[in-house]
Amino acid sequence: MPLPDHTYRTEAVVLRRQDLGEADRILTLYTRGYGKLKAVAKGVRKPASRKAGHLELFMQADLLLAQGRTLDVITQAQTIEPFLSLRDDLEHATYAAHFVELLDAFTEEADENDALYYLLTNGLSWLCRTSDLQRTARYYELRLLDVVGYRPQFFECVICGGKIQPHDQFYSPQGGGVICPVCGPNHSRTRPLALGLLKVLRYLQTHPFETVEQLNLSSAVCLEAERLLHNTLTYHLERRLRSAAFLQRLRYEARSG
Ligand SMILES: [Zn+2]
Repeated sequence: MPLPDHTYRTEAVVLRRQDLGEADRILTLYTRGYGKLKAVAKGVRKPASRKAGHLELFMQADLLLAQGRTLDVITQAQTIEPFLSLRDDLEHATYAAHFVELLDAFTEEADENDALYYLLTNGLSWLCRTSDLQRTARYYELRLLDVVGYRPQFFECVICGGKIQPHDQFYSPQGGGVICPVCGPNHSRTRPLALGLLKVLRYLQTHPFETVEQLNLSSAVCLEAERLLHNTLTYHLERRLRSAAFLQRLRYEARSG
């Protein structure tokens, strides 16, 4: 059946929700085919709403939208994947919020990028089934940097272009990757990068998730990877990572509590 004029169908993930008026909500969506956009879900806060159960945070749904004068309006919604585990506990929910926050921060409205849409839906499903949320987050962060055009260089020195040898190195978020031991000392704002961590980062950057899931990482290496990647992300975004800071607090409280 052809769609009426000014309507379109797409898949989307709900990134953010904001109440509007008595019973409506404005949703920020990341869609397949149209990128990030805001749309109104009318009446969605009424108990009898048929759309409500399909438009929870982080859900993936099939939507029918009608073009509006300012914001488009969601006229139908049908769940594709509810990602239920992400609402089970605070830790899963905060990791999902971190994934969504990063994607949101790196994108402008209406910039269509289907690779990002698939990364987000894959990322949320990885969080639902992984045994290691931290490793999964590092994997997602590296993939995201790749898709948005900031892939860190781990194989050649970003200063001299020389092939990186199996020694300890330096790293610079500003430089865009690894700096060799010859160039490193002549550059400011670098940090040491131990060979063990470099190997892990290279592995994460070049292997599919299913293979990465077999990898056993020590908590020390995980923490170092997190520091390096969060430095890189905050450098590109020029802002703090809110959900990541909250996750660090949860971790600290779990240790001391
Ligand atoms: Zn060099």
